[in-house]
Amino acid sequence: MPSVDTVVFDKTGTLTEGKPKVTDEIQFIGATEGDALAARMGGDYILFLAALAEQHSGHPLAMAIVQEAGRRGLVIPMQPEGAYSEELGRGVTCDSPEYGLIRVGNRANMQSAGIDIGVSEDAALNDLEVRGKTAVCVSRNHRIVGVLGIADSVKPDAAESLLALRGMSIDVWMVTGDHRTTAESVAEELGLPRDRIVASAMPGDKVAKVRELQDLGRVVAVVGDGINDSPALAQADLGIAVGAGSHIAAEAADMVLIRNQLADVYMALHLARMVFHRIKINFIWASIYNVVAIPFAAGIWYPWTHMFLPPQYAALAMALSSVSVVVSSMLLRLYKRPSPRDVADREEAAFRSMKSKKRALLKPLGGNRVNESIRSTAVAVKQSLQQPFGSVSPSSSLGRAAIQLSPMPGSKAQSNGPGSRKAPDYTYGEIPENDEFDNLL
Ligand code: ADP
Ligand code: MG
Repeated sequence: MPSVDTVVFDKTGTLTEGKPKVTDEIQFIGATEGDALAARMGGDYILFLAALAEQHSGHPLAMAIVQEAGRRGLVIPMQPEGAYSEELGRGVTCDSPEYGLIRVGNRANMQSAGIDIGVSEDAALNDLEVRGKTAVCVSRNHRIVGVLGIADSVKPDAAESLLALRGMSIDVWMVTGDHRTTAESVAEELGLPRDRIVASAMPGDKVAKVRELQDLGRVVAVVGDGINDSPALAQADLGIAVGAGSHIAAEAADMVLIRNQLADVYMALHLARMVFHRIKINFIWASIYNVVAIPFAAGIWYPWTHMFLPPQYAALAMALSSVSVVVSSMLLRLYKRPSPRDVADREEAAFRSMKSKKRALLKPLGGNRVNESIRSTAVAVKQSLQQPFGSVSPSSSLGRAAIQLSPMPGSKAQSNGPGSRKAPDYTYGEIPENDEFDNLL
């Protein structure tokens, strides 16, 4: 645990709240024309089909869909038991005798069933993904009839916890089954560089990423919440399950975060390092003590020093050595829970002071011009090496620069304007936020 140098986070339910809400509903008019059910259901058609297929799934996206259907008062008829099936990391299928074959899931789900994703469907999906939403396709009888946009806000302490971990020189990764565009939007909000994202990852891909990092000699911790994270949690050197997640994830993990706070990941690793540091100090002290005192008590130094240690004092020294180790260990009681916010602030301040020192140093040499020539040399070296800058360690100044310079859009700021998003070949509905409903959840 103290030697963990890489932490891989799952996105949904780990870095985000895991309480997603359906925020957008897009119905493709071309695909639903002349459909009696579509005419009867009106604006609820897509949600109705999605809820019908998702009603038995325990996935957070499924729960968001079923809850939204409940909020609108839609009655979702039960289908025969064998009609439902779920594919981890892809979505669900419901083969209903009454409503036909309904699939709800991501692009991979549609493609694996041979369902074509047209240009306008892809545009609608992309439109949602650039705003950090998970776009879910809904198909009926092998034709995509609509798309749902589902949003999940990042946990309030996620960004500062990641920054604090990076302040400990820990390499931080985000691995998600979600689409790359959505993942990048969330990563930007968290101040995480793009080259530290693995997107569209099936459960097996998460394990492969952990193994790849381990093969590089890294000691890897995985933090996850879902069933789909369990194999990666088991593969990791340290598996950390988020307490509010699935029981299977908790079973596969070595450690469970009872409070569901990401700051505790940082705390646990920090405390482990402190304890191990103390053990090392104790060991060194005890070794020195014994190497010097035992020969002294045995009279080995007597011919040169003419000094000896009477046995009663030797016994006292023996006891004192144990006391000193115990007292040194007791100092850990003074350990104060560090706040990731403070560590994050300290990191920023250190970066700023380093920048101003660099500026002061370069001033007599011509200031920005020198700076510029250093930068252009660095770019030339980089090009000649054909190496992306992403290979720079995340705790380097470049990583921090990315955090400082990139705007951190709040999820509110990203909310869409309903009118401006209308496309000619699909209808677009934005679902208003309802505080009363929120309170019920
Ligand atoms: P994460 O790794 O972010 O926790 P998952 O592996 O659970 O995500 O899911 C990956 C993707 O698969 C989701 O973003 C979604 O597009 C799709 N998916 C998985 N389960 C469902 C479901 N029940 N309904 C709709 N889509 C799903
Ligand atoms: Mg998850």
